[in-house]
Amino acid sequence: MKTNYFGKKVVVMGAARQGLAISRYLAKQGAQVVLTDSRPAAELSAQCASLADLPVQFAFGGHPESLLEGADLICVSGGVPLTIPFLTEARNRGVKLSNDSQIFLEQCPAPVIGITGSAGKSTTTALVGLMAQKHFEMKNKAHRAWVGGNIGNPLIEDLDQMDEDDLVVMELSSFQLELMTTSPQVAAVLNITPNHLDRHASMQAYIEAKSRILRFQHQGDVAVLNRDDEGSWNLLNHTHTDVISFGLKAPGYRENGTFIEGDQIMLQIGKDKLKLLPVDWINLRGQHNLYNVLAACAIAAGATIGLPGIQLGIESFEGVPHRLELVRELDGVRWYNDSIATAPERAIAAINAFEEPIVLLLGGRDKNLPWDRLAQLIRRRVSRVIIFGEAGELIAEAIGPKKAGQAMRSVVRCSTLQEAVKTAHNQAEAGDVVLLSPGCTSYDAFKDFEERGQAFREWVNEL
Ligand code: ADP
Repeated sequence: MKTNYFGKKVVVMGAARQGLAISRYLAKQGAQVVLTDSRPAAELSAQCASLADLPVQFAFGGHPESLLEGADLICVSGGVPLTIPFLTEARNRGVKLSNDSQIFLEQCPAPVIGITGSAGKSTTTALVGLMAQKHFEMKNKAHRAWVGGNIGNPLIEDLDQMDEDDLVVMELSSFQLELMTTSPQVAAVLNITPNHLDRHASMQAYIEAKSRILRFQHQGDVAVLNRDDEGSWNLLNHTHTDVISFGLKAPGYRENGTFIEGDQIMLQIGKDKLKLLPVDWINLRGQHNLYNVLAACAIAAGATIGLPGIQLGIESFEGVPHRLELVRELDGVRWYNDSIATAPERAIAAINAFEEPIVLLLGGRDKNLPWDRLAQLIRRRVSRVIIFGEAGELIAEAIGPKKAGQAMRSVVRCSTLQEAVKTAHNQAEAGDVVLLSPGCTSYDAFKDFEERGQAFREWVNEL
């Protein structure tokens, strides 16, 4: 239900993108907004300037408890831990906590698709967004698909342009879900991977947060779950709406879901079975992306996106930048940018997505993660390794020297990524794939993984 924020006193925590966007929205609605951040005012002049046209107050360099006096609501940005003393005190005083995603869901006039999970969120969100866009284009309608949330722009910025015939596709992180008391009309949990959580208590909290995407759904809404992922499938007990699941094999008798049969992606709804499209229309590599496509099809079915929109969306989807992104083909060599792979596990997934001989570019700043599984796979499966950046020595040691009987033909060390690109160009042969899937963060040489991926693209395009 829509809330009227006029005259409400709202404390917004965190002066970054989400916090600025929600401050702007609430101030425009007539709320009395105080924006607070632990960073000092001297570091936040650009943020202040961006709100200069609105009556927003600032409290920087900490969060004084006096802000809680008379406060109706605290709006918490994703990066702020809910355990800080200020928020504990807010709870003790009974002040309601919320965030921009929750306020967006409450206020949005259009139906919303929410997508969460441990991996695949951005890819699936972007793909469903494209299906929805194609759907509207085919029907020659002026309605729009809005894509955002955890990826792209905070959707709250565009709220006043949305209407009830539009469709919103929203990526939600577990941080955002933690405070939510409204669920989207179509809610998808792609997977829940426990391995980055060491304590049972925190795993429970993580699952609890993810389940909020389903918990407040109403009759007529749709939940989308992964039959092949235990974490996602266990949430079935939390659903009280229609379920459309996805997985490689057919769902149970008269259940709803997407699956693969022969060379086709299929949809079963009750007793009906429909061919959606041939698997080889998918441009994305890797089994994980097959799951993302199966999920997107189930979501699209739940959101009544028509078959032509689904087909055109998949056919024209080239993936999200920096995730196994094809940069170019030069002299029979295909160059891929997977700069998002900042951990060895992610580089494993990338290598497994190819059958061609691989020239692998690996390096950056190590996150103290184990390298042995990746090193084993490299010796077996990668033809040339080119190492760069701060963690060079550590990675070279983990992989060890070239030995007889291994697929690995050479290991070369370079100091920079640019040098690694040149070396790869000299070494790669027609039919090879050159893959930047660094297994490390970019912080030794770049602002973030996006800047690294962009630099890689430019250097590759200059060859
Ligand atoms: P997220 O937004 O959840 O971080 P992305 O769609 O950006 O996920 O994909 C990031 C990386 O995660 C991919 O490059 C791939 O290595 C891995 N990945 C993507 N989808 C899946 C999936 N369904 N299951 C497992 N790993 C995946």
